[in-house]
Amino acid sequence: MSDLVAGMARLSEQEEIANKHLASAIEFAAALHEIKSGGLYKFKSPTWETYLQDHWSGKISRSQADRIISAHTVKLTLESGGAKPKVVTTKQAQKLQKLPTNLQVAAYEKAAKKRYEESQTAEPTTEDIDEAVAEIEQEERSQIDLIRMYAADFSAMVKAVKAVGLRIEQLSHHAHGAELSGRMGEVRHGIDEIIQALRMSAPYCECCYCGQKNKCDACKGRGWISKALYRNASKELQDKVTEHA
Ligand SMILES: [Zn+2]
Repeated sequence: MSDLVAGMARLSEQEEIANKHLASAIEFAAALHEIKSGGLYKFKSPTWETYLQDHWSGKISRSQADRIISAHTVKLTLESGGAKPKVVTTKQAQKLQKLPTNLQVAAYEKAAKKRYEESQTAEPTTEDIDEAVAEIEQEERSQIDLIRMYAADFSAMVKAVKAVGLRIEQLSHHAHGAELSGRMGEVRHGIDEIIQALRMSAPYCECCYCGQKNKCDACKGRGWISKALYRNASKELQDKVTEHA
């Protein structure tokens, strides 16, 4: 079978499912996702937009279609993280997507746990998810606040040590610092070592290796990393976090 014939067959198969299940959110979302992400629409229309206009006109708008696909993507993310949502509505997906991918599962599970404790059902409501997302955002924020606070403390110490170094330097030029001037090599070296140690070990940013969520070898479960570790991370990982120093 040629690619064209196979593609057309897959497209009509997915369209049939989508048509049959217009009322059934799960199958419909999965079929729509397949048509878009697999590029199947190209067998009928040059673009996704024209495909929706030409073949689904009046039934579904582009923004509706994209919201449904996006909800399906969130469902897949949750499933790959071990959660078992029956349905993820577009509203729930929008709320979960406020968080980075690695925290979406944590928020969903938190909401599901709460729902189970309250009513013995594991399917969280949109309100449960909203609440869990807000709580996780809050936890994230306070972790980031702590990193920022200690990073500032470390850089204040660097400044203080530099000031001490300068003052010692001045003393060594004084008549009564004559003995000291002969030892300035050691002093400068010592000061440099302290500054270097402070700079390299200061909290620099959230752990980009585990997203400050799991115990990982890089952050040793602390959730934050130093500049030295940050510099060793790939660009892709570095882009996940904000530098605080
Ligand atoms: Zn980590």
